[in-house]
Amino acid sequence: MRADFPDFRLGKVLATSFTGTLSERHGDAVERIPTPHRLVDWLAVNGLAVDSCTPAQLDLARELRESIHAAATAAAIQDALPASAVQVINDRSVQGRAAAILTPGGERRWRLGSASRVEDALSVIAADAVGILAGERDGKLALCASPTCQAAFFDTSQSRTRKWCDMNTCGNRQKKARFNANHRKNTRSAE
Ligand SMILES: [Zn+2]
Repeated sequence: MRADFPDFRLGKVLATSFTGTLSERHGDAVERIPTPHRLVDWLAVNGLAVDSCTPAQLDLARELRESIHAAATAAAIQDALPASAVQVINDRSVQGRAAAILTPGGERRWRLGSASRVEDALSVIAADAVGILAGERDGKLALCASPTCQAAFFDTSQSRTRKWCDMNTCGNRQKKARFNANHRKNTRSAE
């Protein structure tokens, strides 16, 4: 029987969607790519289909993920970028091959190197992280307001005041917590 794996959280920004494969880093952490096969699934969902993945390649992916998280967190609080994280991001960016392809419909797709290796997919994610960390793209890195999450996310809202990494999870939970707190207060005052 196939084990049940946690769902993926899908975002619009590749690099921070990738860091979201580990959530609740400051609470009960949820690992959304617990096996090499789940990384293959995640990459396929994000337009980076690879042929296979070994445990060592999963380790590489997780190392990149945590490095992007560390660098994005530092950027969000305007701290210096950790040198080790920058090194990992650059290594992954360099050590893979992928090309941007324009579809007839005017969309950008990625074509990975001839062997479609995990390293090729990671190079695309690393390059995406470079883009947002270098401030090239319209948006701002910020940290999720949920104390158990604190994920770094890329805020592209017009006012740059987004509070949660994901409205459907952290945002909703916060809203519910506020509702319950108010509800308790109201019941108490009615007594
Ligand atoms: Zn969050």
